[in-house]
Amino acid sequence: MKLVHTISEARNIIKEWKKEGLTVGLVPTMGYLHDGHKSLIDRAVKENDRVVVSIFVNPIQFGQNEDLSVYPRDINRDTELCEKAGANLIFNPEPSEMYASNFSTYVDAGTPEHELCGKSRPIHFRGVCTVVSKLLHVATPDKAYFGQKDAQQIAVVRRMVRDLNIDSEIISCPIVRESDGLAKSSRNVYLSADERKAATILHKALTEGENMVKAGEKDCSKIIAKVSNIINTEPLAKIDYVQVVSYPNIEVIDKIEGSILTAVAVYIGKTRLIDNFIIE
Ligand code: AMP
Repeated sequence: MKLVHTISEARNIIKEWKKEGLTVGLVPTMGYLHDGHKSLIDRAVKENDRVVVSIFVNPIQFGQNEDLSVYPRDINRDTELCEKAGANLIFNPEPSEMYASNFSTYVDAGTPEHELCGKSRPIHFRGVCTVVSKLLHVATPDKAYFGQKDAQQIAVVRRMVRDLNIDSEIISCPIVRESDGLAKSSRNVYLSADERKAATILHKALTEGENMVKAGEKDCSKIIAKVSNIINTEPLAKIDYVQVVSYPNIEVIDKIEGSILTAVAVYIGKTRLIDNFIIE
């Protein structure tokens, strides 16, 4: 496995693979890898001849008061995990490699950006779309792997890939959880012991909501109320949003019809956690 820091090094390696007729899978990440990321790499290794993992904490998807400067990083541990999982290349650029000092061209996905995390993090998806389109241009993968943990991100990226005719298939992978149900996240490291216990409330509440939908409840406001009430029983939790939207269109709906996404963002102390369920 190789670790490279520049676009030209990554391109040269990938071009050689393509000349040999090999298929390429890309797993875009911000690093500090855990079993959720590993599940994406494992699937990419199964489905492609060569696998590229990008590790890049993308500054333009963080708002001014967000956690860019303290986002956890450990490239040595990440390299070990990627190597063991069978990845072939890590692309780990510096921000200056990705963004020229007069960088000014952004990708905006429109409608699916506007609800959920797009409301509380207004520039987030513009930053995500821009970096993902750049990574797709650098790696030109046959398939790119994303986690359902960021369900809105998948919808936004799929829309962008369709609208801009990018020749890569976007693959969605299931959420990997801790044994008590908390979705794995690089940000879980911010939680104190008490907060870590409190954080299980997200999955508990969503499970109740999912059971209601499975039992036939069609009224979104009742599902939102149930999930919110359960989260509010936890004193350390402060809801950012609890919402039910159509999926993958990400439009707020009143009645459940077709595929839906129920998504939550909750502050546990200062740490903002997200989780969701999708019902097809
Ligand atoms: P991040 O490094 O947090 O930007 O995540 C990189 C990719 O890993 C994204 O596509 C995430 O959706 C995915 N991912 C993060 N956490 C999980 C998880 N617990 N289960 C599955 N995929 C995940």
